[in-house]
Amino acid sequence: MIVAERKPVNEIVEMIKDADRVLVLGCRGCVSVCSAGGQREVEILASLLRLGRMKEGGRLETIEATLVRQCDREYIDEMDKWDGEYDAVVSMACGVGVNFIANLRPGVRVYPAVNTTFYGGSAEQGVWSEQCAGCGNCVLHLTGGLCPVARCAKSLFNGPCGGSQNGRCEIHKDVPCIWQQIHDKLENLGRDDDLDAIAPIRDWRTAGHGGPRKAVREDLTV
Ligand code: SF4
Ligand code: SF4
Repeated sequence: MIVAERKPVNEIVEMIKDADRVLVLGCRGCVSVCSAGGQREVEILASLLRLGRMKEGGRLETIEATLVRQCDREYIDEMDKWDGEYDAVVSMACGVGVNFIANLRPGVRVYPAVNTTFYGGSAEQGVWSEQCAGCGNCVLHLTGGLCPVARCAKSLFNGPCGGSQNGRCEIHKDVPCIWQQIHDKLENLGRDDDLDAIAPIRDWRTAGHGGPRKAVREDLTV
């Protein structure tokens, strides 16, 4: 899932300083799962924003709602029922949702309430960890299922750098060196010969370095 975390409230208060009526809009997708932008977080943020405005001697009206997803046109259309009732939207979806609203509602001011951070999973209660960087050319079949793009600080493809010490990455003692883990995993699977293969120079255009990416499924287009 896409992992996100809420921005500091004072940043959001500053964004909406010119608005008196705000639609605080959550998303029931990834940001609900990582407790950044679901219905509960919408209610908390809306009350913090009202409080923030009150402290400044003003009054803020909020509409609080969540869409099934903010990355899908059909759900964005549900916003129409609040037309004329708000001056700005504070989206608690990931950056995709904010972009979708901006694209599909050109006359609407939309502000991001969360920082979109990475693609990850729930490692333990209240902890999410990055697992994939969406590079567009997956190599997990070569690396024992462990991602060298997202999980190596240098996105190395041919083994560890000189900073790998005792299974730890040089960036921090609490960060495992993923190349040590790839080595151990392949060895465990009896596939350590795979480590001898030299990965060719990578074409990073699939990772977004060639501009915005688009996925087209001809069988699903109309
Ligand atoms: S190799 Fe690319 S697609 Fe595969 S997990 Fe890593 S970043 Fe994601
Ligand atoms: S120590 Fe390991 S994880 Fe860290 S940058 Fe070097 S190879 Fe990558």
